[in-house]
Amino acid sequence: MAPRSSVATDSVAARTCARSSVERTHACGNDETQPDRLPGPGEVRIEVAACGVCRTDLHVVDGELPHPQVPITPGHEIVGRIDAIGSGVNGLAVGQRVGVTWLGHTCGVCHYCVEGRQNLCDHPLFTGYTRDGGFATSAIADADYVFPLGEVGLCLD
Ligand SMILES: [Zn+2]
Ligand SMILES: [Zn+2]
Repeated sequence: MAPRSSVATDSVAARTCARSSVERTHACGNDETQPDRLPGPGEVRIEVAACGVCRTDLHVVDGELPHPQVPITPGHEIVGRIDAIGSGVNGLAVGQRVGVTWLGHTCGVCHYCVEGRQNLCDHPLFTGYTRDGGFATSAIADADYVFPLGEVGLCLD
């Protein structure tokens, strides 16, 4: 895990797109336009191309999982392209096609994280459950849980 710093969110290293807002759908079903966010340190912003619907999203929306972030933008099966990169992110590039995982953040300091077993982290965040997900025009994700997908299998019509 990369150490986190407290650099302000305006220290975006890469270009950002000209959009000024992000549309998102809350768990309650209301569409809402939020001010677009810039990625903070260790984060990237992704222009969402698609986001799968999983049974877990329904559990979140139906309030069947404890302690969700409220309000929340559901959606943890995100595919899209990076359009902005926060400071301290290595190995990812603007324009890269990526996917985001359900496990959206780990603390980096608990004994599980230190042992490389981040899936058991004591203080995890989950995409679309305890941090905003991909049922939106863009999503902010922890770069440690963003994975390049390449261009193979991409439908170009
Ligand atoms: Zn799922
Ligand atoms: Zn941890």
